[in-house]
Order: sequence, then C-alpha cells, then structure tokens
Amino acid sequence: MNKLPVHKFCTTLKNVFFLVILLSIFCSSSVINAQKVYTIVLDAGHGGKDPGNLGNGYKEKDIALKVALIVGKSLSKEKDIKVIYTRKTDTYPDLWKRGEIANTAKADLFVSIHCDSHTSNAYGAGTFVLGLRGNKKNLEIAKRENASILLYEDNYQEKYEGFDSNSAESVIGLSLLQEENLDKSLEIASLIQNNFAYKLRRNNRKVKQDNFQVLRETIMPSVLVELGFLTNRNEGRYLNSSKGQQQMGKAIVDAIKIYINNLKLNTVGEQIIESSNLEVVEFKIQIASGKNKIPTKSYNFKGLKNVQRVKVGSYYKYYYGVTSSYKNAQQALKTAKQKGYKSAFMVAFKNGEKVAVKDVYKMN
Ligand SMILES: [Zn+2]
Repeated sequence: MNKLPVHKFCTTLKNVFFLVILLSIFCSSSVINAQKVYTIVLDAGHGGKDPGNLGNGYKEKDIALKVALIVGKSLSKEKDIKVIYTRKTDTYPDLWKRGEIANTAKADLFVSIHCDSHTSNAYGAGTFVLGLRGNKKNLEIAKRENASILLYEDNYQEKYEGFDSNSAESVIGLSLLQEENLDKSLEIASLIQNNFAYKLRRNNRKVKQDNFQVLRETIMPSVLVELGFLTNRNEGRYLNSSKGQQQMGKAIVDAIKIYINNLKLNTVGEQIIESSNLEVVEFKIQIASGKNKIPTKSYNFKGLKNVQRVKVGSYYKYYYGVTSSYKNAQQALKTAKQKGYKSAFMVAFKNGEKVAVKDVYKMN
C-alpha cells in the first residue's frame, strides 16, 4: 500500500482547502445572480382615447406600443429580467396609474416611449430625464409611498430599520435616493441616446432634463424616449415602418442590457468585497456636472478647493470634499451649499465603484 508522504498530504489538503474557498466564492456569486431579477416597466405613451401626435397621419400611440412590445419581447428572453407593461393594447391608463404600476412592482427601471411632433421640419431622437423642479413633486410621492410602508406592511420596523416618514433624517435619506435615481436615469439615458446617435445615426437631440408628468410619478430611475418626429416626412415614414421600429427597439434593448449588467457588477462586487474586509470607502460631494470641461481651480468653484473632475460618458462631474468619513462629508456638503451649490449632494464609492450612500453609511 502506498502511503502519502506527509508533505504531499499537506499540499493536497491545501489544494482541497483552496478549492473549497474558490467553490464557495463561485457559488455565492452565482446564488446572487440567480436571486436578483431586475424588473423593467415599459410604458407605451398615450393609447386609447389619447392618440398622441398624428404627424403625417401616423399615430404616435400605435408606434409607441409597437416599439414597447418589441423591447419587451426581446428583454423577456433574459433570465434575470422581468418585463411589465403599463399597457399591452390600445388602452389609456392614467399617468399616475402608470407610475403606480412601476412603484408597486418596485421596478428597477421605468422607460416611457413616445414620438415627437413640431410645426417645423425638426427631426431626431432624444431622451429625457426628470428635471430638478419635478424632483420636488417626486420627493413628495416617495414620501407618500414610503408612508404606506407604515400603514400596510407588517414588521416594517425590522424591514426598514430606523425609517420614519416624518423624521427629517429619513426625508434626507429619500432625497439622497432621488439624487441617485437622477444619476442612474442619466446613465441609462445616455446609453440609449448613444445607440440612437452613433449606432443608428439618428439626428442626436441629446439627453435633456424636462418635467414630464409621467416621470414625476415614479420613484426609481426613469427615462422618457422620444424616438423621433412623426411630423418630419422621412422620420415619420421610418418610425412607422417595421424596420424602423425594430431598429429603435433594439437600440433601447441593448442599452438596457448594459445598464442591468452594470447594476449586476456592482451588486456582485459588493458581496465579494463585504466578505473580504478590503473596503475602501470614499464620500464626495457632487457640486456640478455638465458638458463643459472646467479647470478645477478654486476661483471657478466659488472658492472651493481641491475640486475633482471626473469624466462620465460625455459629461464631466465635479466633486468636492473627498473623504472617507461620513461626518466630514456631511460637513463638506454643508460648506458646498453655503457657497451657493444648493443642489449639491453626497455620493459614495466603495473600492472605486459608485455605490448607494445608504449602503456604506451604516458601516461607516
Ligand atoms: Zn407623446
């Protein structure tokens, strides 16, 4: 009988040990993947009594529905995506109802699909996120939605530790959530818009902020897509064609897949980081963002020093007060607001990846 020499036995034991560790990492991350299903709510604009615009005799409500169904059909093939429609037929759900469908489903993303019209010959595709004024109303809804947690959900104290819809702190938490939603909305909006502009070579009407009612009703990242102008003869014909609808639909699908993938990477990343004690957390105050590349001299930022500029897509984000302490970040936020950056807000990064402030706040 062959006896295993002791050192060999040890090596084998080591290998088994590493294998077990590797396996458990692999399993835990695949479990995470299997658990999370991302819910996308697709909202075909108008419908039923409301035809939308009728440029060149085309019907916005029909084109919007066809594209929404194309997008939904394609996304439904993904194992980790669940699609919900606000309408699948020629009906008109009220705008608040469309928001409620998404809010009740705790959707990860809301996409409203429309076509534009104008008295000029304007053409091109554009993507919209909610403007800042709309955010106020949005915050009210978020508060209301969260108040219903208190009314209708059992054990809310365990599930939403420390949440009190009337406390200032909880409301601040909510407005941080709003700012993060805006950030995420901008991310998916630019993914969609880039596909329109660079893959399909549609005239680029860019990502813009506006106060669309339907976007005010939702409390998750949300965008409104204007596929193009039905009033423009060429664009109207394109959008009314099956080819045009398939192409525009695919542009949206591809963007959503990348967006979901980014969300997934963040989630999986966090789980692994949590088990390995390698946390490097940074808080920053976002004071501005835009297309302009501004030198980070203090005289350009109302006297704020050490401003950081980061390029995200075609935007530049400007951060102030980079720190690993939540307390210092709060102070920096105060300073930024005092200097006149009224809409400044806090963001958090874990090992260089952007994460929700609330995810690292407790830990800190
Ligand atoms: Zn419309």
